[in-house]
Amino acid sequence: MKETEPEAVDAPLRAPEVVQGPRPEAAGPGAAHPDLLRKLQRSVGNRAVAGLVESGRLRAPARRTLARAPVQVRQTASEPRVGGGTFGGSVRFDVDFSAFEATITVKVKLVPASGVSAADVTAVQATATAAFLNMWDNRFLITDQASHDQFFLRVNVQFVATGQHFTVALHPGNGRMDETNWSVGASPTDFAHELTHKIGPNDEYVDPTAVRRRTATSPGVFTDHSVMGNYPTEGAGLAEAKLRHAQEVADRIGRASSPHRHFTAAYTLSNQGERLVRWRGIRDSLAAGSTQRAAAAAEVTAIEADLGIPQLSGLTGVPYAPTP
Ligand SMILES: [Zn+2]
Repeated sequence: MKETEPEAVDAPLRAPEVVQGPRPEAAGPGAAHPDLLRKLQRSVGNRAVAGLVESGRLRAPARRTLARAPVQVRQTASEPRVGGGTFGGSVRFDVDFSAFEATITVKVKLVPASGVSAADVTAVQATATAAFLNMWDNRFLITDQASHDQFFLRVNVQFVATGQHFTVALHPGNGRMDETNWSVGASPTDFAHELTHKIGPNDEYVDPTAVRRRTATSPGVFTDHSVMGNYPTEGAGLAEAKLRHAQEVADRIGRASSPHRHFTAAYTLSNQGERLVRWRGIRDSLAAGSTQRAAAAAEVTAIEADLGIPQLSGLTGVPYAPTP
């Protein structure tokens, strides 16, 4: 939940849920750069590496535009309230670009309330960091639409005493969570949710006081295991950062860059592998013939297509047949 804020700028852009494969580019003259190749092989797998090698883009990174200083995103998120005004919060993070990575850093100053021990603080820092990294780190690739340079989106949380992007009061027990108040007893997904607000995305659960989320069929409501949705009901262990969230973050990074850049977000193949297992489980847990099952089956089919499973099935003599 976001606190009220009068400004309304930088409304998040929504991107279609499109998975982007390797670009069909003419082969270039460059030889593969062994260090970069090894790095990619550790993180995305053969298909993406093969695509980059074929496109001639695995050259030494000398031609790439590298930022000398971090890109500083200093924006707001807002959405209209029923009866006027907006919900909103600050969106602040830094992005360091290296040859193949765009690393987001969120700096948080935790201020423990009375009754919160030093051990509680340490535990919350560890839990929140692990949850945010599990939700976001290496889950997405962003591609510069002009240069076609690609970067793995990495994330990092730093708990600091000064120089923070955000100050958060840490309370004992298991009370309510919001962007400026955390509770020691909150779930890992709750911490991932609040930290995700810090990089841009809004809530996606039903809220009668939010214009775009009044009812279950409102345009701002999603029931697709979103970390910004109603995950306590849908299953906290199944919550994920969605491609629309990554596109919003990519848009924010592009707007904060000088000159402005336009990025397209895609799932990494390692993430798609994990998502395939997760979404097959979701599909199989739902009643045959239900609309929810059909939606989950469509998600599985889309992931399978992205991973090349229909073609692989054909090659091994097993005709591909999506499970309904
Ligand atoms: Zn929220």
